[in-house]
Amino acid sequence: MIQTVLGPRKPEELGKTLIHEHVLIGYPGWFMDARMPPFIRAEALDRVVDAFQRLHSYGVRTVVDPCPMDLGRDVSFLAEVAQRSGINLICTTGVYDEAQGIPFALRHFEVEAIADIFQKEIEDGIGLTGIRPGLIKIATGDGKVSDYERKMVTAAARAAKRTGLTLLSHTENCSCGHDQIDIVGAEGIAPHRLLVGHCCGRDDHPYQKSLAERGVYVGFDRFGIEIFNTDANRMKNLKELVDAGFRDSILVSHDTVNCWLGGIPGVGHPDQVKQILPNWSLTHLFERIFPQLEAMGVAAADLEHIVTENPRRYFEANAHPI
Ligand SMILES: [Zn+2]
Repeated sequence: MIQTVLGPRKPEELGKTLIHEHVLIGYPGWFMDARMPPFIRAEALDRVVDAFQRLHSYGVRTVVDPCPMDLGRDVSFLAEVAQRSGINLICTTGVYDEAQGIPFALRHFEVEAIADIFQKEIEDGIGLTGIRPGLIKIATGDGKVSDYERKMVTAAARAAKRTGLTLLSHTENCSCGHDQIDIVGAEGIAPHRLLVGHCCGRDDHPYQKSLAERGVYVGFDRFGIEIFNTDANRMKNLKELVDAGFRDSILVSHDTVNCWLGGIPGVGHPDQVKQILPNWSLTHLFERIFPQLEAMGVAAADLEHIVTENPRRYFEANAHPI
């Protein structure tokens, strides 16, 4: 069974799934910029529920929100969104990368103690909510895995081994995907239990293919974020991977943030993001990307397979721990 924020579901109940979207995020210290809008929970909920209801009208039934512990994770908020939108939401345990997370909190613990912390959330629920994570998040920085990140990824792999949960990752600038496979592999985690996230941050088919060849899932999970890379490149690379025989390795999403606590680091007021990234929304894949991919020659059946069958198979690695 897969844990959602409203309780367990069977893998075949998940349906059409987006693998990486954020209901709500707050970067460490989000409350320190007094110029930013205050967080008004009821208003924020209405806004987010609207967006998820719209997504529901496109047939999506499940969304993974891989917010790590240290990015303002609020699973009660997620539960309300799931209840009101009818979309299954899956939350995670685990921590963000060293540069953007809160390494202060866990860095002095031994790896086993950190694995215990993740395991406790998985088995007993997050805080007093009773809500249990359905995945474990790992994260590494740009170009090199720091000692802190290596420890956290190792602890996450041990928690995955003890509980049977699968792993989902954050990477920077299409780097360190292979390191992630090596670190969790050394702890006995098979590649099909790892999604290497954010592999579409650069026009880099050789990198994407090299990951798929090792048996992990490859995240094309930032459609609409056209600062680092264009959607045109992402579509080209996705088709190249399908043509190379790796349709079954691809998972898709947008990495949207539907509610910001405070401002956006490096941008400022959350409203400004609309001008910078006009297509960055939960429904972009269905409104623009899938039709364009079909026009480029990717079969509609393959796209349906990528958004429905691949997530189910990925989560089945959860249901049958090795
Ligand atoms: Zn994300």
